[in-house]
Amino acid sequence: MIQRSQDIKYLQGVGPARADLLSKELGIRTVGDLLTYYPYKYVDKTHIYKIREIDASMPYVQVMGQILSADVVGEGRGKRLVARLVDDTGVIELVWFQGIKYALKNYDFNVPYVVFGKPTVYGGRLNIAHPEIEKVDPSRPFDGESKNRYVPSYNTSEKMKRSGLNSGAMMKLTSKLFELFDSPFPETLNTYLVEHYHLISYDEAIRNIHFPQSAELLRKAQVRLKFEELFYVQLNILRYARDRMRKYRGIVFPKIGDAFNGFYHHHLPFELTGAQKRVLKEIRKDMGSGRQMNRLLQGDVGSGKTLVALMSALIAIDNHSQACIMAPTEILAEQHLQTLRQFLGDMPIRVELLTGNVKGKKRETILRDLKNGSVHILVGTHAVIEDNVVFMRLGLAVIDEQHRFGVAQRAKMWQKNNVPPHVLVMTATPIPRTLAMTLYGDLDVSVIDELPPGRKPIYTVHMFDNHRDNIYRKLRMELEQGRQVYIVYPLIQESEKMDLKNLEDGYVQVCRHFPDYKVGKVHGKMKPAEKDAEMQRFASGETQILVATTVIEVGVNVPNASVMVIENAERFGLSQLHQLRGRVGRGADQSYCILVTNYEIGTETRKRIQIMVDSTDGFEIAEADLRLRGPGDLEGTQQSGMAFDLKIANLASDGQILTLAREAATTILDNDPDERNPQNDILWRRLQELRRTNINWGAIS
Ligand code: ADP
Ligand code: MG
Repeated sequence: MIQRSQDIKYLQGVGPARADLLSKELGIRTVGDLLTYYPYKYVDKTHIYKIREIDASMPYVQVMGQILSADVVGEGRGKRLVARLVDDTGVIELVWFQGIKYALKNYDFNVPYVVFGKPTVYGGRLNIAHPEIEKVDPSRPFDGESKNRYVPSYNTSEKMKRSGLNSGAMMKLTSKLFELFDSPFPETLNTYLVEHYHLISYDEAIRNIHFPQSAELLRKAQVRLKFEELFYVQLNILRYARDRMRKYRGIVFPKIGDAFNGFYHHHLPFELTGAQKRVLKEIRKDMGSGRQMNRLLQGDVGSGKTLVALMSALIAIDNHSQACIMAPTEILAEQHLQTLRQFLGDMPIRVELLTGNVKGKKRETILRDLKNGSVHILVGTHAVIEDNVVFMRLGLAVIDEQHRFGVAQRAKMWQKNNVPPHVLVMTATPIPRTLAMTLYGDLDVSVIDELPPGRKPIYTVHMFDNHRDNIYRKLRMELEQGRQVYIVYPLIQESEKMDLKNLEDGYVQVCRHFPDYKVGKVHGKMKPAEKDAEMQRFASGETQILVATTVIEVGVNVPNASVMVIENAERFGLSQLHQLRGRVGRGADQSYCILVTNYEIGTETRKRIQIMVDSTDGFEIAEADLRLRGPGDLEGTQQSGMAFDLKIANLASDGQILTLAREAATTILDNDPDERNPQNDILWRRLQELRRTNINWGAIS
């Protein structure tokens, strides 16, 4: 009996050289790794085509017939064996460039064969090169019951293919493995889960995922393995959240006092939206519960999250605690500071800013006053989590625009106080439900699904770059009414030079076209101070057009800007386009978003642009983005470093299975909080094993 943990190089047919390739190219080191290297597709060999039905556009096909003739033709490199296969509907050629001798020796005339391969056209005739051929037992008519009806295809790299490790070789290795494992594979879920969710056994699943015996069993194997994979991801996250909850009792904020009430009754410049009220209630409940709040606040751009953050901070202040708001950039931190001070007006609440730019005496004073408690709210960049920033009593930490921060930073926040502060994570990148469950599965979620009243939806159009005159005409109309305009260029790291050139060219063109207006320019290569200064000039209206890369993406608020032009819109993700578009439409005027692309774009791109034109709902767009691009490419998921090396489940399409898996994990944890039920031992052991072998899983605690 071989073990899952056994080194792959001792497997027959592998050896040190191939083991090295498998490890370097695919990360396959052990027998277990090979077992979970699943096929990416299966070729259906269950259907037998009539020769007349075949054309060269078809993928792999299977036909049944007899060989009528076989001739070696051509010379030298063009030498080949051409056989003619017939059934009762027509003729197709079978061609061999190699292995001619073998074919001549092994295949007979006038015997029924099942032939499998990719049809092509050569010299006006249909043929299949290097077909797979299987003899049919004439006493038993072929009924599709050949050994491998669904043939697995495995992804391999070019390098592997050059060394003969192609999909077929991978199939052979895997098949060899199954021969060695002649007894059933041990179960990896407990009986309750298998029965309750009507799953097939692990053994049946793992065998059928590689070599499906039927379409039905393939489907069941996929469900079983996806469920299992997502179940352990959820069990890991939820168990971790529960442990943390036990370890850390939260600060209790029992009362609402002068700060909150005073603000609510005398300073709040408008009525809260229903969604804001609901979310504030959820936050109040958390902070009064005695356990530490860890809440994700999702709300589209402009939905009024800042105000929710401020009012939550006021609750902390009413309970003799301080609050801290962390933003991803200097500009945003500064803007938060101004916004908060403006909201608070003459209330006796002190808000200070701490960023890398705050230095010397000023910094010392702030640090001192944080320690003695006379600063109530600290706004800043990640400078606020540095070790020398010490609060008297930090009660609430707000992290804005979460996707720039990881779990590790969140954890650092908790350590800022004896009893860890309540944590509110705010994100304006709406996250599809399945992603949120997996990425932020340990957080409770609040959603602001309502914009403040009176907002005019941004009018979005798609224009081609050869209609630039029309675009400029529109811009001029807006500029003449005193509005401001953003023009954004993509910046993708691999070709930074070229991108910068695009931006520079665009800038020159715009300056030439609008000599009567002032044009600013911002990009990632500028020093932060320069960048800030340029942004400030635009914010104050000194410049009317801002040509920029995506550095302006997050949070910047210039209500007078009414047009967002996005150049090479095809190069942005949908969520990113949505974020950018959210920079306009912040004032009372009708705003516009112009998505500019080349005339020649693919249907996929056209679809994506159309989604932007049709919808202003961030959640809808995020779901579409996930469907179109898959989870790996979505913003925020790369940095998150967890759960995205899923081997079989797909967060874009397996939402239902994920919901079941989460429900299952919750049930297990609820019913066996002390992990004493022997029936669950198998689960904890497996989880331990997965955490040991999966680096990303280990990283969350
Ligand atoms: P975001 O959720 O993108 O951070 P902000 O907090 O910046 O949104 O709010 C966007 C704008 O809406 C701000 O100018 C803010 O003052 C305003 N706002 C917030 N809440 C309301 C409300 N209930 N009614 C009217 N305007 C509001
Ligand atoms: Mg904001």
